[in-house]
Amino acid sequence: MPTIFEQIVDGEIPARIVHETDTTLAFLDANPLARGHTLVIPKEPYEQLDDLPAEIASDVFSVVHELTPVVEEAVDADATTIGINNGEAAGQEIPHAHVHIIPRFEGDGGGP
Ligand code: 5GP
Repeated sequence: MPTIFEQIVDGEIPARIVHETDTTLAFLDANPLARGHTLVIPKEPYEQLDDLPAEIASDVFSVVHELTPVVEEAVDADATTIGINNGEAAGQEIPHAHVHIIPRFEGDGGGP
């Protein structure tokens, strides 16, 4: 059974896509912790960070690096929290590796 994220990659479920490369996809989180909360995923369905080949991990983090200031500027954030829930016990709900880019605002009361 493909995960929700695979279905988004395959265009079977709609998502607000903000960036795409040959190997990665970035889209808005459906239940955002803050305005502009963005997820960056590898297109291939690797379950956890350590399953990613180094080249794909590099592609994903290169996109995180590129998008973080764009997301901050888009929602006029003061900062960002970059996070990975790596494994079920860490709170990973979707078993398809992903990086959260969460805009933060002065006085917003703490991170995830
Ligand atoms: P996790 O807890 O696995 O690190 O985060 C999964 C994230 O995926 C959550 O922040 C959740 O809101 C988001 N999410 C779950 N289902 C969907 C969906 O169908 N579309 C989008 N865009 N995000 C989703």
